[in-house]
Parts: sequence; C-alpha cells; structure tokens
Amino acid sequence: MRRKLVVGNWKMHGSLATNAELLAGIRAAEPFVCEAAVCVPFPYLSTCLLALQGSHIGLGAQDCSAHEQGAYTGEVSAAMLADVGCRYVIVGHSERRAYHGESDQLVADKAKMVIGKGLVPIVCVGETLAEREAGQTEAVVKRQLSAVIHTLGQCIPQAVVAYEPVWAIGTGKTATPEQAQEVHAVLRKQLAAATEHAGAMRILYGGSVKPDNAAALFAQPDIDGGLIGGASLKAADFVAICRAA
Ligand code: 13P
Repeated sequence: MRRKLVVGNWKMHGSLATNAELLAGIRAAEPFVCEAAVCVPFPYLSTCLLALQGSHIGLGAQDCSAHEQGAYTGEVSAAMLADVGCRYVIVGHSERRAYHGESDQLVADKAKMVIGKGLVPIVCVGETLAEREAGQTEAVVKRQLSAVIHTLGQCIPQAVVAYEPVWAIGTGKTATPEQAQEVHAVLRKQLAAATEHAGAMRILYGGSVKPDNAAALFAQPDIDGGLIGGASLKAADFVAICRAA
C-alpha cells in the first residue's frame, strides 16, 4: 500500500514573513493521513526547517546541481541540501527544462546525485500541448523517464515520479482524472519493466491541482498524490488538498 504524498512547490514565491505565516497555517491543521512536504526557494530552506521543527511536514528544494562540488558559481549541491535538512529535491521540472534547457540526461544525473546524498528526487515528466495534440504524450514521458531509469539503475525505486502535463501547469486546465490515470499507468508499467518494486513507487500528478479537483485525481489507482504549485501558497488550499489525499 502506497502512502499518498502531497508536495507544495512554492516556485519563486515567498518572503520570510509570508513563509512563516503559510507554514504556521499548515502546521495548525496537522496531522494529515498523507505525507506532506514543501519545496521552498534555496534562501529559505533553513528558516523553513526551523519553522517545521516538531512537525511531520518534510522539507525539499526545487532543483540542485548535477555536480558534486566545485567551481560552479550559483549552483547548489545535493550534499548542501542534505546538510541543511532537506528530504526531497524536485528535478526536471518543466520550467527548468523549458527556461534553462535541461536535457533528459541532465535531469537523470541530478536525480542520481540526489539519491547519492540520501535524499529523494521528485523527477518531473510531462508533455507540452503541441506534443499531446500530435499524439506524442506517451512517447515523450517514456523518453523522459527512460533516461532516469537507465541512469539510476537499481536505485530507481528510491525516486518519486511526478507527471506534470505542461499544458496544465499554472493554466487552471487540469488533466481529467482519466487522462492523468492513463499516463500514470504507462509510467507504472515502464517502471515495472525496470524494477520489481514499481508497485511501491509513488507517482504524483501535478498541474492545476486545487481543493475541488484533488479528491477525484487522488482516487485514481495509479495517482499517489500531487505536486502542487499555486494552491500550495495558500494554507487553507494546501491543507484541503492534503486532506483529500
Ligand atoms: P500549478 O499547481 O500552479 O499548476 O503548478 C503545478 C506545478 O508546476 C507543480 O510543480
């Protein structure tokens, strides 16, 4: 039985003051049946960890370097993220792929680095609207996941996968539960061909998850929780989504 996981991706939002208020609001609603985590901007990791002391809510980052350490100005290593108390690191978010040119292999290398430091990578995959309309959804997500499967090898069960159709991110257009389930089933099958532990792996859905659509998405057999953008910035909405899981 997979325990559901709901992760807030704050993206480039927040301040010391608003983060404190948001986390206090979420903490006030604990405990949750699901596992919950927040992936916050780098400068706020340590203060958020302090604000989460005594809570079961996990802390995560939104990216990391594929390098171990060294002369990589502006980069943040997986070891540093482990050092400051992260449990999760999102890798391969479509915004990183699109705006920073991250390739499937780079994303896979980042996931490997994250696992090597004892953290859990949340590996994002997903097709654009043009790709969906061209009937390429399955081919695209399989290609993206395949790089990760090959690079992680026997460590693949340590990863969380997130299906985030690009056309559903920040657009208010959620994939229907059936559309999402269809892709999740494809991903689960691909994982099953690589590991006997695929049934224990969590595959999250992300893309305009809101309090009013979360329960229907999470009720699908292969949807094990969500990666939440906009709605994770409001305590009441994030709590409602965690309660739906
Ligand atoms: P929204 O929930 O704002 O659509 O963002 C989804 C997302 O990109 C989470 O990583």
